[in-house]
Amino acid sequence: MLSPLATGVCTGLGVAAGAGLAAGGYAYAALWPGSRLFGHALVAPRRPGELALTFDDGPNPTATSRLLDLLARHRVQATFFLLGSRAQALPDLVRRMLGEGHLVGSHSWNHLNLAYTAAAPLRAEIVRGKQAIEAITCAPVRFFRPPFGARRPLALRVARDLGMTPVLWNALTSDWKEPLAERIAARLQRKIDRLQRRGFAANIVLHDGGHLDPAANRAPSVAAAERLIARYASTHSFVRLDAWEACAS
Ligand SMILES: [Zn+2]
Repeated sequence: MLSPLATGVCTGLGVAAGAGLAAGGYAYAALWPGSRLFGHALVAPRRPGELALTFDDGPNPTATSRLLDLLARHRVQATFFLLGSRAQALPDLVRRMLGEGHLVGSHSWNHLNLAYTAAAPLRAEIVRGKQAIEAITCAPVRFFRPPFGARRPLALRVARDLGMTPVLWNALTSDWKEPLAERIAARLQRKIDRLQRRGFAANIVLHDGGHLDPAANRAPSVAAAERLIARYASTHSFVRLDAWEACAS
């Protein structure tokens, strides 16, 4: 198995799907963040001293507020990939993100799996998510992370046509189902340190929301973020993803 970590240059990852594009190959390419078969996406550049904390599926009334408190306490800026439906329901939290210097991107309207969505609803899902966020931020949304990391040419093309850079990741663990913050942080630290040894920045995914539950308990994920900040604050720079924008193509 080719590792997404081994090849994660700025523009995505140099993994070839050389075995052909049978159904299994399609699923692999569409869902595996290491595949570039369906086009480039921003992952992380060769800047081993940099970490991007990114948070998906919010905003969430409890977890996002606590997370913003935490980030403010430590003066760390992060990137939030919002569901348009949740943003529309909690606009004050979105405005707070902006006011406190965070970057806001789109994670679609309501988390459909775009790898298996017909063209018209796929486009509507991406457009509606972007518009819902922009109605709050009054500024263009420039980054898009597909739900489940699912990619297909049409989804990437629609995102780009709308002026958004597709974004994946290179440091993820199952924080949404892990109750112990120390385990979440430890798993991510191993990935971050491995990326560091290989000369790459880390594009870290945690979840402040849950696509199945608008008020999901994300206390472990927030606590894991605090552990990562404590671990790396003195040795690394925490950046927003737009710091790496030139690395996408
Ligand atoms: Zn998600």
